[in-house]
Amino acid sequence: MTATEARTAEPLELGNSYLELPEACYARIHPTPVTRPQLLRLNRPLAERLGLDPEGLEAPEGLEALAGNRVPKGAEPLALAYAGHQFGNWVPSLGDGRAVLLGETVDSDGVRRDLQIKGAGLTPFSRMGDGRAALGPVIREYLVSEGMAGLGISTTRALAMLATGDGVARDRIEPGGVLVRVAGSHVRVGTFEYFYRRGDFDTVRALADYVIQRHYPEIAGADNRYKALLEGVAKRTADLLADWLLVGFIHGVMNTDNLSIAGETIDYGPCAFMDTYHPATVYSSIDTGGRYAFDQQPRIAHWNLARFAETLLPLLADDMDTAVEVAYAALEVYEPRFEGRYHGGLRRKLGLGEERDGDVDLALDLLGRMAAQGADFNLTFRRLAELGGESGPADEAVRELFADSSSFDAWVRAWRERLAAEGSDDGARREAMRSVNPAYIPRNHRVHQAIEAAYSGDLHPVEDLLAVLTDPYADHPNRAHLAQPPAPGQVVQRTFCGT
Ligand code: AMP
Ligand code: MG
Repeated sequence: MTATEARTAEPLELGNSYLELPEACYARIHPTPVTRPQLLRLNRPLAERLGLDPEGLEAPEGLEALAGNRVPKGAEPLALAYAGHQFGNWVPSLGDGRAVLLGETVDSDGVRRDLQIKGAGLTPFSRMGDGRAALGPVIREYLVSEGMAGLGISTTRALAMLATGDGVARDRIEPGGVLVRVAGSHVRVGTFEYFYRRGDFDTVRALADYVIQRHYPEIAGADNRYKALLEGVAKRTADLLADWLLVGFIHGVMNTDNLSIAGETIDYGPCAFMDTYHPATVYSSIDTGGRYAFDQQPRIAHWNLARFAETLLPLLADDMDTAVEVAYAALEVYEPRFEGRYHGGLRRKLGLGEERDGDVDLALDLLGRMAAQGADFNLTFRRLAELGGESGPADEAVRELFADSSSFDAWVRAWRERLAAEGSDDGARREAMRSVNPAYIPRNHRVHQAIEAAYSGDLHPVEDLLAVLTDPYADHPNRAHLAQPPAPGQVVQRTFCGT
């Protein structure tokens, strides 16, 4: 390649399979340029996985494309139409109001991934919004989604974040930002609802076929492929919800437009990881009724899946009664799937190698005591890994997490008896427990601090946090403070939607 060719090579060569869908599914739109794009962070390992050249993306043409100031050659950007149930209320038209889908690239595993610019300016779906994103929520999404990926949980990813040089009006004027998001796809439950509620069943069918081909190719030949699709989405959603619960994640806005058909965690708004364990924890300042509280999430996901099932009714059978029966039968996979994964996960968190009666009760008993005694969720399990089969000095590190340590003492005796019953080996159990109980989660106060520092031009806290979040099951002795819960004065009081 000559120097001139290298300079003119397109750093973002993108396809766009959404264009095969009926035109009602999208609006063609270019991102609106920003004033002074500044790359705050490029996710280099992710860029490489996507088959993109990090240097090319950091060079001026690449950066301009990431910012939305230049549409890559051959790309046909668009905004997707969708609707949704927000806090249970039907909203017939939402859509990508501040996001533009640039196109798709195929990663090193052969998986097609969307590249979307969030904060890209006005689209036909912007309604009253300005189409922009404030830098704070952009940083939050980058940190929390990459933290989720580090934990091994299905999620959209962050390829890059940029400051725009423009101000955006929120409660106050905030610096503007852009997040380049990578997703298996951006099809949501709300995408199906948009067409179903308009009576456009042909488009529902086209969408279903598209999703099957893209995400569930294994069911393409099933007897009733739409029933198989519903089961497939229900299973992935069940797995995802169990995974969230096992690390203390609270999504915050589990509206149907924020539930991915591909089973990925998507749309990180007022989300947070729990510090002190309590099942009723809510972080979002807009979730006043606690609809999306920590322990409500599996039930809400099921409710969202029922909304998805509705949209498939015309495809499931020729007559409505049969279709409803088929939908109910398909959704029945959800609960056992969730329980299997959640209970199995709890057992692994406790280092139980065998499956025995009473294991789940033992885990739930611990959770109950943690809630009553204000113990930190992730730290309790992480430190528990260090305990031997006999009481010893390591016990104190867990005991001190409970307001009344005797509550833990009573539980740990039962746990040790259970370990002895299966002849558990301390060393092997420790390793196994450390591999499922993270030392590092994106703690809300640290995310908050990283955003504040970035606002005053210091990106070190963002980098520090990412160093541990991308490798959260290892100890990082020089960053041990990032594993700690907030001191009383550091607790973040309200987590805003920040849109
Ligand atoms: P979210 O709360 O991010 O899931 O967004 C819900 C809906 O509001 C989606 O249709 C978004 O596109 C839209 N939206 C959120 N923020 C903005 C904004 N600043 N400008 C335009 N639309 C927005
Ligand atoms: Mg959303």
